[in-house]
Amino acid sequence: MDPLRPRTLAEYVGQEDLKRELEVYLSAARSRGEALDHMLLTGYPGLGKTTLAQVVAHELGVNFRITSGAALERPGDLAAILTTLEERDVLFIDEIHRLPKACEEVLYPAMEDFALDLVVGKGPGARAVRLKLPRFTLIGATTRPGLLSAPLRDRFGIVFKLDFYDQEALARILLRSAALLGIRLSEEAARVIASRSRGTPRIANRLLRRVRDYAEVKAAPEITPEIAQEALDLMDLDPLGLSPLDRRILETILEKFDGGPVGLSTLATALCEDPQTLEDIYEPYLIRCGLLRRTRKGRVLTERAYAYLKAPREGVLF
Ligand code: ADP
Repeated sequence: MDPLRPRTLAEYVGQEDLKRELEVYLSAARSRGEALDHMLLTGYPGLGKTTLAQVVAHELGVNFRITSGAALERPGDLAAILTTLEERDVLFIDEIHRLPKACEEVLYPAMEDFALDLVVGKGPGARAVRLKLPRFTLIGATTRPGLLSAPLRDRFGIVFKLDFYDQEALARILLRSAALLGIRLSEEAARVIASRSRGTPRIANRLLRRVRDYAEVKAAPEITPEIAQEALDLMDLDPLGLSPLDRRILETILEKFDGGPVGLSTLATALCEDPQTLEDIYEPYLIRCGLLRRTRKGRVLTERAYAYLKAPREGVLF
């Protein structure tokens, strides 16, 4: 279990609008003594979907069961989990867009009627049996909501999209994590690390651990902004938080494709990377930084990217 994961909604930093709304649904479910409606969480990796699902279970005082769309191969795998749930439990399915179609069909009656349809026996003697399930809450998480089928998407009563975190929220997460790990971190240093964390708590916590390593090796009693800066420079992260691969993406579009447009798969081939990883992990942050645009014809560098790469664009003077 990750020691840095917040357990309560109050400890969950940021996402203020989402929390306000969720608080209402949690109170209503609690006061009626009912299971919370099924909930879909979308957002890029590391933004806190799993954490939020755990918080929901904790706030409702129920069990938290976790699985993943990629781990559920056959309908029986899902049925085995569903039949062991207790009343009002939270079942979390990560990467729900990877759920096989046959498993998805088991979910429909489970979500809607809290029932499991089984076929007992074989051949002409086979018959359908309907098993009653406890009223549970399904929380699905996905980085790619567009890949969910409409019938599945429509069965979620609550849908939240997690956003990237601003610097202030990331700095608060870092200070909280530092306190939990017994690291002395100044507020200013937290802001330095936050600025390189790509708006993502998981990255912020990872950078904090690396900066701690650096501080220990340097025998620094506290992480100061200078120590944080030196450690981050050593990791080759630039002031926008871009990694070497982010920069290589921008440089490749500039040098090999004249700044774009270039299609995702062509770009991925040129970079020797997996297209889905590019699309899910790297592009969103480049787009958010205003460095890259997705157009119908493909990916295009923005003016800001040219300025960032210090390459004068044809006909444009800086
Ligand atoms: P996801 O499921 O979206 O990939 P996680 O829930 O695994 O992301 O979050 C990654 C890490 O970031 C967690 O271990 C947790 O420590 C931290 N984290 C995420 N969201 C928050 C938050 N709102 N407040 C504090 N820490 C967070």
